[in-house]
Amino acid sequence: LNLHNAEFIRSAVKTADFPADGLPQIVFAGKSNVGKSSTINKILNRRNFARVGGQPGKTIHINFFSIDKQAYFVDLPGYGYAKVSKTERDRWAGLLETYFTSGLITLGLQIVDIRHKPTADDKTMADCFLGTGQPFAVIANKWDKIKKSELEGNVARIRETLLLPEEVPVIPFSAEKGTGRDEILALIEEHIAA
Ligand code: GDP
Repeated sequence: LNLHNAEFIRSAVKTADFPADGLPQIVFAGKSNVGKSSTINKILNRRNFARVGGQPGKTIHINFFSIDKQAYFVDLPGYGYAKVSKTERDRWAGLLETYFTSGLITLGLQIVDIRHKPTADDKTMADCFLGTGQPFAVIANKWDKIKKSELEGNVARIRETLLLPEEVPVIPFSAEKGTGRDEILALIEEHIAA
């Protein structure tokens, strides 16, 4: 898989916009500011591919990126941003539900902050992924921000809070340093090949 051959395809706002060519779709979800854009950029070794920073929660579309014409990276809108209006939140939920029931998801990747106990919104998102019955993993980002001694306990707290089944991996990762990138890449390649 040539990760350099990545291009933006489109922002989907309705079902008809979802690519339906049968290529695997690798889906990234996460609370605003958790480092979702940074994670996608780090995996692709790009600096400004997926947008970093800016106004959290503003985008309610789903962004599709083609990776080497062999798969899609799917960037779901960041959730949990308090300042978004109820109308926007309902639109977000509607679009998300449409996508999650589309049967298009090959592998779900949810990004959480390794420092914190996952929120109720994180739990809802994990349940959405688990509900698809498709392969799912949690990326515990900002690994560089904790002490070595905190790793095991923080990962266990993520597992327990999200009620993750045993087969769902929690992968410690730093989008800043790149630590954990190989494990994520291996998982992605495994599911694209399958
Ligand atoms: P998004 O809203 O989830 O797309 O988050 P961004 O990718 O825009 O990142 C939010 C902030 O967290 C930015 O200031 C990033 O530089 C920072 N950030 C993201 N990942 C990491 C990480 O692994 N370590 C550290 N220290 N900072 C990170």
